[in-house]
Amino acid sequence: MESKRKIIVGNWKMNPVGSSKALAIFKTIKKEHHSYKNIDVIVAVPYLYLPVLKSLASKRLSLAAQNAFYEANGPYTGEIAMSMLQEAGATAVIVGHSERRALGETNELINKKIKAALKKNILPILCIGESTREDDVWYLHAVKSQLEECLKDVKASELKSLVIAYEPLWAIGKDAKRVATPIESEEMAIYIRKVLTDLFGARYAALPRIIYGGSVDEQNAQGFLYHGGVDGLLPGRVSLEPKKFLKILAMANEM
Ligand code: PEP
Repeated sequence: MESKRKIIVGNWKMNPVGSSKALAIFKTIKKEHHSYKNIDVIVAVPYLYLPVLKSLASKRLSLAAQNAFYEANGPYTGEIAMSMLQEAGATAVIVGHSERRALGETNELINKKIKAALKKNILPILCIGESTREDDVWYLHAVKSQLEECLKDVKASELKSLVIAYEPLWAIGKDAKRVATPIESEEMAIYIRKVLTDLFGARYAALPRIIYGGSVDEQNAQGFLYHGGVDGLLPGRVSLEPKKFLKILAMANEM
């Protein structure tokens, strides 16, 4: 399979507290970022920081929201529409993050959000991943049904405008059981392409970028980038530490 332009998606989650801190982190990343011409960098920030950072973003260092709603407007208290995100500065949106699934988000809802994002030319970054690997086979079924249900009625040609982040739940966050190995990431990337092939055909299955997320840091990033079978990474906590995040960007840029 031809190799794709690498993409690194930083997920700030509900951090940092205060827009001046957000501005300082983003500015530090931007200062170094201009030399990383071979990669796409997206930083997913809390909604309210989008307008604050908008003027610093560019095509290669862009902003994402961490969630969105699928309707265009109306009586949906507390929700934010894709066009509102766009106006605020986001060109991408994370959908189906496990921390949102834990709050009740279903594959059906995620599917609506993906279709709404695609309609507005916002890049959906779809997070999928099993909660455990205690059972040998079921974790593959879990990933397969997430893909089938989240991508229902998505057109094959739209897959080029999609990023799929494989994020096993057991590897995410400071309470992670352990980090996945590059071999586990590679196996899952192959499996995801196989499921996409069954759903959309081989030609289209090759289109989306598949990335790995789950306790990625400046120590393990190289292993995933070189041996993880993926087109990029989704670091969470480390994306708030510019020095470490920039090291990951430099590694991806050198490939
Ligand atoms: C994430 O936010 O999706 C994530 C993988 O977080 P962390 O890198 O902190 O495990």
